[in-house]
Amino acid sequence: MKTLRKHSRQREELLKVLRGTKSHPTAGWVFARLKNKFPRLSLGTVYRNLNLLRDEGKVQELAFGSTFDRFDGNPLPHYHFICEKCGRVFDINLPVENTLNKKAEKAAGFKVDRHRVEFFGRCRNCLIKGGGEN
Ligand code: ZN
Ligand code: MN
Repeated sequence: MKTLRKHSRQREELLKVLRGTKSHPTAGWVFARLKNKFPRLSLGTVYRNLNLLRDEGKVQELAFGSTFDRFDGNPLPHYHFICEKCGRVFDINLPVENTLNKKAEKAAGFKVDRHRVEFFGRCRNCLIKGGGEN
């Protein structure tokens, strides 16, 4: 009972950390933020809790391949921009094109439940610093 309560408190704190940032952090980043408060916490537990919260629909996972999995405290559908120079992930303030699902359904004859869109390029910061080179 005691450990159960502790676990749900960890999960609550984890959710708070995720909702408190717009950086779409990795599990490692979240782990580093919680380590002080929960000295016995392991990275594996953070992963397990993140997956649990994802399965409950409270957060979303942005999988870009195993080296670049990010988590988002905003579970609602929205688009992202990934800077290929600094690796930061940003929200893109565009309405989600729900008609795209129907179009894909028609094109493929499949049942489409959702879609994800990621834009790639260079963020404002990198544009300022980088000048003209790629
Ligand atoms: Zn950048
Ligand atoms: Mn986001």
